[in-house]
Amino acid sequence: MLKIKNYVRVQSLEEAYDLCQKKNNVVLGGMLWLKMQRRSIGTAIDLSDLGLDQIEEDGDFYRLGAMVSLRTLERHHGLNKLTQGAMEESLRHIVGVQFRNLATVGGSLWGRFGFSDVLTLLLALDAQVELYHAGRMSLEAFTQLPRQQHDILTHVLIPKGVRQVVYQSQRNISTDFPTLTCALSKKDGEYTCVIGARPQMAQVYRDEKGLLSGGVTEETARAFGEDVAQRAKFGSSLRAGEDYRREICTVLVRRGLLAMEKEG
Ligand SMILES: Cc1cc2nc3c(=O)[nH]c(=O)nc-3n(C[C@H](O)[C@H](O)[C@H](O)COP(=O)(O)OP(=O)(O)OC[C@H]3O[C@@H](n4cnc5c(N)ncnc54)[C@H](O)[C@@H]3O)c2cc1C
Repeated sequence: MLKIKNYVRVQSLEEAYDLCQKKNNVVLGGMLWLKMQRRSIGTAIDLSDLGLDQIEEDGDFYRLGAMVSLRTLERHHGLNKLTQGAMEESLRHIVGVQFRNLATVGGSLWGRFGFSDVLTLLLALDAQVELYHAGRMSLEAFTQLPRQQHDILTHVLIPKGVRQVVYQSQRNISTDFPTLTCALSKKDGEYTCVIGARPQMAQVYRDEKGLLSGGVTEETARAFGEDVAQRAKFGSSLRAGEDYRREICTVLVRRGLLAMEKEG
């Protein structure tokens, strides 16, 4: 059971940052992951009054506040148009609507969960994050930071440029954790492939050998799928074995590329 000694609804990011410097104090997102833990929290830091539940837009970026719910992202017309529906596809399998109404984008990224659909897609979109103290950085760089860092994730930035995107996941049963996640994107002729739920954290793979430089065909899509599956590290867990994940990786990458080619 999760035990909370003090609860503070902070009135500024500075107040939140000061409070979270203490080891036993914890920032709250939607609390869906936190509530599963058996631990005692000194002060729970609630960001609900800071207006971080908004999606702003300028010429170059969508800027998502950390408290934006996964359901808001899933239903967002502009983000779905930008990603050709990949945003909705990446989120619709996560537990259920009531759950996604509460789970936040900030909590989802801060957790850097191995199984994360959210992290997989946002890496493929070249997203950036803004931390109150550490500032702005690519999401890829953020995934390499030590987990114990005491900071506040305030915003997520999604670049608006034209790109093709396809998202797929494999699950043993709908709404379960994924056994593999796969996001593909193509921008200015460059392909980015992200594989998650390996079961480790999602990782970015690029077409370093130029296998797709002559275009996507059944053969080149298969070759790139096999190449990614060879380069990626997989492991076994309760839900799937290492070899199974490698096989599924080849299939999802090939299918994703062919789907992208067809839509393009
Ligand atoms: C049963 C279950 C099934 C799930 N299935 C999936 C799935 O299939 N696919 C998937 O992608 N995800 C899945 N998730 C994860 C879920 O989608 C959320 O990512 C997760 O619940 C965290 O979001 P939250 O808002 O609840 O964060 P919380 O639980 O409130 O917080 C999570 C962590 O992030 C920290 N934190 C939160 N917000 C901030 C912030 N702004 N700045 C700094 N630190 C912060 C908290 O201190 C905590 O350490 C699942 C979760 C559960 C509990």
